[in-house]
Amino acid sequence: MEKFETFTYALGENLYINLTSKCTNDCIFCVRNEKSDYFGHKLWLAREPSADDVIARLPSGIGAYREYVFCGFGEPTLRLGVLSEIAQEIKKRGGTVRINTNGQANLIHKRDVTGELARFTDKINVSLNEATAADYAALCRPAFGQEAFYALQDFAKKCAARGIDTWFSVVDVIGEEKIAMCRAIAQSCGVTLKVRPFIA
Ligand code: SF4
Repeated sequence: MEKFETFTYALGENLYINLTSKCTNDCIFCVRNEKSDYFGHKLWLAREPSADDVIARLPSGIGAYREYVFCGFGEPTLRLGVLSEIAQEIKKRGGTVRINTNGQANLIHKRDVTGELARFTDKINVSLNEATAADYAALCRPAFGQEAFYALQDFAKKCAARGIDTWFSVVDVIGEEKIAMCRAIAQSCGVTLKVRPFIA
């Protein structure tokens, strides 16, 4: 696979920040399995950026983008220290920080990191993806097994309790019945559910 240094990329009104190509999931639908680009952006990283690499690519006027989104191919919370440094810089300049995550940060770091995240994170989108632990494990193939499904719910609950605007996301292809189950899970965690259309 060809690799690049696409540490940031613009999509719509937002600037996306790509910290790693690694992930604790191996989702069967992950674009990492199919191609090296996403909407024309080459995201497989030749190397992981430092905080300075990314900060150097932020616009001088932070208002140039609506949100600064830690996303990319991989799981951004794997690089918590670097993420924290960049996000604090964005917040210092008055920007809005969002993290798109698989919700496994507390498992990855073996501690509750939501207090740290709350200091610099405005919004968190946690991929719920499925309605049961077994279905989640089959779809996302997490390194942590089915425990990941419960851990991501606990993570989202803690993020919301700390005042971060937190929501779960699912894709509409799972069907109405599962979407209703996911809505109940979201409600029990005190977060909202966003249902995204499937993008082939
Ligand atoms: S959580 Fe995201 S980056 Fe990780 S394997 Fe799944 S789709 Fe890919």
